[in-house]
This record gives sequence, C-alpha cells and structure tokens, in this order.
Amino acid sequence: MASATDDKTIVRDYFNAQGFDRWSRIYGDGQVNKVQRDIREGHQQTVDHVLYWFKQDDNAEGLTVCDAGCGVGSLSIPLATMGAKVSASDISEKMVEEASFRAKELLPPEAAPTFDAQDLETLDGRYHTVICLDVLIHYPQDKAGDMIAHLSSLAEERLILSFAPKNPFYTLLKRIGEFFPGPSKATRAYLHSEAEVRKALKANGWEVNRKEFTASQFYFSRLLEAVKVSA
Ligand code: SAM
Repeated sequence: MASATDDKTIVRDYFNAQGFDRWSRIYGDGQVNKVQRDIREGHQQTVDHVLYWFKQDDNAEGLTVCDAGCGVGSLSIPLATMGAKVSASDISEKMVEEASFRAKELLPPEAAPTFDAQDLETLDGRYHTVICLDVLIHYPQDKAGDMIAHLSSLAEERLILSFAPKNPFYTLLKRIGEFFPGPSKATRAYLHSEAEVRKALKANGWEVNRKEFTASQFYFSRLLEAVKVSA
C-alpha cells in the first residue's frame, strides 16, 4: 500500500498536470460534459452551504480564515469578497496559481486572499476558522486523524470539513473513482466514516454544531462545522 508521502506526491503531481486541467475546468464556468457538470453543481452546493453559514452569522468582515487545500479558490474568493481575511493554500502550485489569477480578476490586492503552495500539514499560524473542503478524499482513513489534529491546532474557534462519506454502497466508491481517471483511480479516492471523523473532532476538543449533506449523481459530500466544546 502506498505511504502517505507517496499519496501526497501522487496527488501533487496529479493536480499539477491532468488533474489541474480537469478540476480547473470543473470549478470554472466553461463548457463541461454531463458528469463534470453534475460534479460542478454538487461542489457548488457545498461551497454555498459554507457561505450561507457565514451569512447567517453575519461576522465575515475581518475574520481570519485558513482555507486548506483551496483548489482554484472556489470558496476563498467569495469569502474574501465578504470581507474575511483569507489565507489560502494548496499542495498544487498550478491550483494556487489559477486561484491567484481568478482572485486578481475580481478583487483589489488588499482584499484578495493570500495564496501559498503548501501541504496543509505544514501550515502554521492561528485562524478564527479553518476550512478544508473535499480534501479528505486524498487521505486514507488511518491518516485522517493526524490531518484533523493538525488543522485543529490552527483553529481558534471553528473547523469546517467536508468529505465523501463511507456507506455500504460499493457503487458509490466506483462513482467516486470516476473523479480520478487512470489505472489507480479507485485506490486514490478515500471515503471516510462519519463516525470516525466525528471521533477525531471530539478528540481534538470540537463538537459538531451544523451539518449539511450534498448528493448528486456523481458528487457526495458531508459537511461538518465543529466549534469548541463549551466549558
Ligand atoms: N477545497 C477546494 C474546493 O472545494 O474547491 C478544492 C477541492 S479539490 C477536490 C482537492 C484539493 O486538495 C486539490 O486542489 C489538491 O491539490 C488539494 N490537496 C490534496 N492534498 C493536499 C494536502 N495534503 N495539502 C494541501 N492541499 C491538498
């Protein structure tokens, strides 16, 4: 079985090459095929749920947010537009370059997120809110605990995570395999047991406050907002 380092190298290389082409198209507004459109719309719902939580709380202005594994900035850019101070990063240089380009089109430099090419497990600093959307799919279950612990160490008040939930339907795994074209596609997409993710959150002092689930034909994502356990 590939080690986590191998997984990360594969993920970085993928998102710097054919994965970049595929995902920057899916996370864009140009023409895509039916499967890609379904994934685009499903992913947008996950992003919209997070933005809705910020709107409900009405406190985005000036809030420090870390968007770990930011992709092309699908969440970072609207959050910065709402006035949050967003530190965004991704393991793929190409994704970060594209995110930065998209941000420049829409925001003045002082309002734009900062973008860095960095493995999320090497991030430091402290942020009001840490968000990590649809990145756990690249982590095997036995590495997810360490990843959640590291993100927890960066978050003062809130941690927001989304992941493809593990359920009994093997067809789901096969469908998620469709996201990753190539011989090893099914082994590179990891589903996560919600119970295990919740256990990891609890072990790091969090309790789940709000949750959402998005399911379309080819996109499945459980979204959890965890806040500090009150004394
Ligand atoms: N979070 C973004 C969003 O929802 O629009 C992107 C989601 S995309 C499915 C997954 C992203 O996670 C890719 O851009 C990939 O490069 C990034 N990624 C995977 N493993 C990572 C890691 N260890 N550290 C930082 N980024 C990572």
